[in-house]
Amino acid sequence: MDTNTSILIISTGGTIGMIQDQSSGVLKPFNFENIYEQIPDLKQLNHELDFYCFEPLIDSSNMDPEVWRQLARVIAHNYEDHDGFVVLHGSDTMAYTASALSFMLENLNKPLIFTGSQLPLGFLRSDGRDNLITAIEIAAAKVDETPLVPEVCIYFENQLLRGNRSVKYNAENFNAFVSANYPALADVGIYIKYNKDKIRKPNFKKLKVHTELEENVGIVKLFPGISEEFLKPVFTNPKTKAIVLETFGSGNANTESWFLDLLERAIKNGMIILNVSQCMHGSVDQGKYETGMGLAKIGVISGHDITMEAAISKLMYVLGKEEKKDNVLRLLNMSLRGEISN
Ligand code: ASP
Repeated sequence: MDTNTSILIISTGGTIGMIQDQSSGVLKPFNFENIYEQIPDLKQLNHELDFYCFEPLIDSSNMDPEVWRQLARVIAHNYEDHDGFVVLHGSDTMAYTASALSFMLENLNKPLIFTGSQLPLGFLRSDGRDNLITAIEIAAAKVDETPLVPEVCIYFENQLLRGNRSVKYNAENFNAFVSANYPALADVGIYIKYNKDKIRKPNFKKLKVHTELEENVGIVKLFPGISEEFLKPVFTNPKTKAIVLETFGSGNANTESWFLDLLERAIKNGMIILNVSQCMHGSVDQGKYETGMGLAKIGVISGHDITMEAAISKLMYVLGKEEKKDNVLRLLNMSLRGEISN
């Protein structure tokens, strides 16, 4: 065994963390002590594998920022002793957790690969076995002793995607994730073909863990006919620090005065409003149409081509560490971990 490369596999739960009880047929959490019985092929991998299991294992629909903090701490605690990390996680909120961790782990210089499955391990046709084995190979990949993919990623089916660019778009296919505004970091077939130009370069600085997250944030998705009665309590709530506004097309919205006045007042009272498009492909451009310009004029911030999952977690992170509005706006307008293209 090549004990030069050691990978920590962390299970948070999700379908991949379940097996079917032989007698009753119900799904139950998977016991890592038996992982080599479940996947004997793991022994063929030439790396040292260590395991860490969250207690309790959760369906990722129950994920919350407190679990993100625990995950960040587990990684920080084990950072020096391992070359890479694989996180088993339910696919439903995997893109949120991967986005959040990308912000919380500043100067990450090692691979942190999230994976899961659509069918539980132990099912004959489970996608979990291949996902796990390939995720471990990617987490262990190095060139001249430097990790090949020193960033937070999602590996699913046959693609390695940047975590904060990923969205779960399919509830049934094995290929469940898409990164519409950024190319895959690797395509997996017979070979793992890394898209090296698109992978973040290590900066060799010391890992910095940020666990302060502002949780008083929200998301508002616009639709034709959205009413003042519905929106008013949201935009006048004094506790709410920031809102992701999901707009139409290239960042366009209603130009009615009640709507723009409501948002303008909220911004004047200190609320941050980040404009994210409902379209998966493309970017917000608040200068293109009158309907987008109205938002720019009152101080709504362009989210550029960020995903909604990255936008909400970026707001939590930025507002957790910065109080000054100028700093908040500067950080929202720039790429911190490769989450936007500008
Ligand atoms: N509901 C499950 C979860 O997200 C689905 C999955 O694991 O893919 O935890």
